[in-house]
Amino acid sequence: MQQAQTLARKYKSQPRLEERMGAESLGLVKGLRDRQMRWEEYERSMLDKTLTSALASVILGAKSKKSNEKMEKAWPIIVGDMLPPLTKFLAETKEYIESGTLRLGDQTADFADPGLLGAIPGAIDLEVDELEGENPEEEGTQEAKQQRAQGRTWPSLAERVSRYLSTPTYTFYALGEFMSSREMGYKEMRRIAKQDKKVCIDCKTFGEQGWAPIGQLPMPGKDCRCYDRCRCSIEYR
Ligand SMILES: [Zn+2]
Ligand SMILES: [Zn+2]
Repeated sequence: MQQAQTLARKYKSQPRLEERMGAESLGLVKGLRDRQMRWEEYERSMLDKTLTSALASVILGAKSKKSNEKMEKAWPIIVGDMLPPLTKFLAETKEYIESGTLRLGDQTADFADPGLLGAIPGAIDLEVDELEGENPEEEGTQEAKQQRAQGRTWPSLAERVSRYLSTPTYTFYALGEFMSSREMGYKEMRRIAKQDKKVCIDCKTFGEQGWAPIGQLPMPGKDCRCYDRCRCSIEYR
């Protein structure tokens, strides 16, 4: 919790935290590949950073109001959302290393690939997304085809790591903001979908619903097929 406070104070805004965690994703994977860190250390760092980054996002979203209390409330949500897929993901990565699919010390992969989502400081995922499919579903199919999402190559592993450390900062920021808004007495919320061709059908539908009683609409990234890449915003009144 103390670490999360420090992180929130240092990066001050969700986009800056997201960018920073993207760079850390790349650093972690590089460290593992180049044998600068052992598996146990990598695993522990992944867990630590995933949870700390989510907590820091809640603090930023809550605008520091009663942040300890909000972190405590958010904790079971963060753990429930992040730990099961993360545990599975780590087990898969370990298997790829043991089977030689991911070779330690392999320097052939180029981490400067512009397609590395969120892993390059300054690369906002929207711009990178422009290079991909028309919509999240198509992107998913493409990812599966190219085996990018599975983490079977070092760059794809870095991309997947960023989807634990970096992109979820948006959802957890929204959660912090939600907690504060409810406390401040707001009664209604609405979800605003991004008005571009990439918006998914779920987000579009939530957007069209308009105002609803506070708490009745899911946070960005929840119940929509764009998951952590969802960039819907929430308004309160
Ligand atoms: Zn969506
Ligand atoms: Zn969305």
